[in-house]
Amino acid sequence: MRRQLGFLVAVWAASAAGHDAQRRQTPSTHVHGTAELHVVLEETGATAVLRIAGMSAVGFERAPRSDAERGRLDRFRSAVASAGWLALPAAAGCQLSGSNVSAPGFEETPSHEETAGEHAEIRATLRYRCANGGSASELSVNLFEPAHELQTVRVEWITPLSQGGAVVERKQRRVRLAP
Ligand SMILES: [Zn+2]
Repeated sequence: MRRQLGFLVAVWAASAAGHDAQRRQTPSTHVHGTAELHVVLEETGATAVLRIAGMSAVGFERAPRSDAERGRLDRFRSAVASAGWLALPAAAGCQLSGSNVSAPGFEETPSHEETAGEHAEIRATLRYRCANGGSASELSVNLFEPAHELQTVRVEWITPLSQGGAVVERKQRRVRLAP
């Protein structure tokens, strides 16, 4: 189980990197206003991988230039790490067991020069232990309050029974986990 789950996450990570294959490793292919979410649900565990453009999340894509911007970025990172934005069904009995959040492109740079076309984004991996993860029939993505500029989230999911994709938006946040 663990091995399979890890494998799927690795495949997605490689797939995301593939989009950048022709370019540098900095995030350069995301679309502002959007985010991508991959969810794997198994009987005993779940993993969610989020990738959101800086513009969608905090309204800028560079090192913070003020305490206000720094605070906005820190608050968003905390909100993502807390996993409060991803609602899994109570029946699945999932508890967050770990989270990892990074913010490539937001680092302080020695020069204030900015290169056209550079992007920054927030990436997060959330891991859960579940009592009955395979029973989950839907989830909901409540990322639109911490991320005011976010318009849509493209969700891809896998359960023991099926897999699929959906796009959620502010007014339609639920994803049915059925083909
Ligand atoms: Zn960008």
